[in-house]
Amino acid sequence: MKNHTRLITGLILLGLVLGLIVGQYLHDPAWTPALGIHAHQHANALAVFNFLGETIFMGLLTMLIIPLIATSVIVGITSVGDFRRLGQLGGWTIIYYLVTMLAAVVTGLIFVTAMRPGAKIAEHQVAQSKELISEGPISPEVFTAKATEGLTGVFEHLVELMIPNNIFQALAEGNTLSVIAFSIFLAVMITLVGNKARILVELSEALFDVLMRMVEFVLWLAPIGVFSLLSVSVAKIGLNVFTESIGMYMITVILGLLFHAFITLPLILFIFTRQNPYRFLYKMRRALMTAFATDSSSATLPVTIECATQQGGVSPRAAGLVLPLGSTVNMDGTALYEAVAVVFLFQAFHIELGFAQIVVIAITATLAAVGAAGIPSAGLVTMVIVVHATNNSLLALDPSSATIPITAIGLIIGVDRILDMIRTTVNVWGDAVGSKLITKLEIARR
Ligand code: ASP
Repeated sequence: MKNHTRLITGLILLGLVLGLIVGQYLHDPAWTPALGIHAHQHANALAVFNFLGETIFMGLLTMLIIPLIATSVIVGITSVGDFRRLGQLGGWTIIYYLVTMLAAVVTGLIFVTAMRPGAKIAEHQVAQSKELISEGPISPEVFTAKATEGLTGVFEHLVELMIPNNIFQALAEGNTLSVIAFSIFLAVMITLVGNKARILVELSEALFDVLMRMVEFVLWLAPIGVFSLLSVSVAKIGLNVFTESIGMYMITVILGLLFHAFITLPLILFIFTRQNPYRFLYKMRRALMTAFATDSSSATLPVTIECATQQGGVSPRAAGLVLPLGSTVNMDGTALYEAVAVVFLFQAFHIELGFAQIVVIAITATLAAVGAAGIPSAGLVTMVIVVHATNNSLLALDPSSATIPITAIGLIIGVDRILDMIRTTVNVWGDAVGSKLITKLEIARR
């Protein structure tokens, strides 16, 4: 690793640690007057951090997403060349996404069943959930609409996105899935046209290299960006929530996520590549730290591609095939989180779930995670689909059985941001592992 890369990585880590400390400090109003800081200065600090983190750092990353998706997909697909191989690699990629998401869900279900965090929640807190949902950043109507839309609605929407009526509008609006689908189609046709379209491949390769340079440049701002974003996130919630009754739920989600990230995914990587998975994790650390701070797999995508191809030994071909689609479809962390959260809510409402409901949760949580976009809180919203499906499954067995209201989400909405940081990191790590596996597979079959 070059010296300046090491320096930036060290600084990002420093930004992360300082962000947690300063965020916690800003969260606790009791500290500020004691240090002579007034309320308006406090608010100003948050506004400045928001500007540096969201507007500048995330803005710059977001700016690069669409051109990077287009070029990396075109480079990836056209370099495979042969359609049979492309089909095989694509098939393995989809299988990888689904198997790892299901593995994550099963891990989550085991943790939440064993730890029973819902038992810690008192009756009066459950009764408050309705008010809490109205105070959250997402209106209760959005949740209700999503719940009635159900999985069919989510998949209809995904297909709609995959067939954009106007690709220029999709590009302008930054619809990642539309751009991925169009780029895949375009790349396949470029391969068919052959020599005459070669110029488009060369153009994409050149643009891809230039965009990588742009990402490296933007990464110089990552230490400040990561620091600012984390300060704001932690200031809103505060780390003391871990000591409250909701803390047990958070610890359950986090333990499940850690198990998936440090045991399941490394094991899969080791079995198929015989390489040290933790070394690869270390090489991906800049992307993982960016995911942790931004709460967005999509915004992190430029850094994920940069780390994977420049440091992690992932071929641009595998990166183009796995990472862009993975950033919106493959969400191990979100799938695990949705399963744990739903079981937790039923536990808090004292409703026993049978094996049938657990199976329903496993399947719907996986699919709802596929349907979640790579943006902050997306998983929280698609989670209501899982709640709705579980309620329906209870009613199908016994029409008089108790169910939980959608407003139950009020119980967890306030602490979602912290869990979003960790699940997004696991989402990005899952994508990275997939791209390493596909690199190995394409080398083995060459
Ligand atoms: N924020 C997550 C991501 O971008 C999605 C989620 O909310 O679970 O990967």
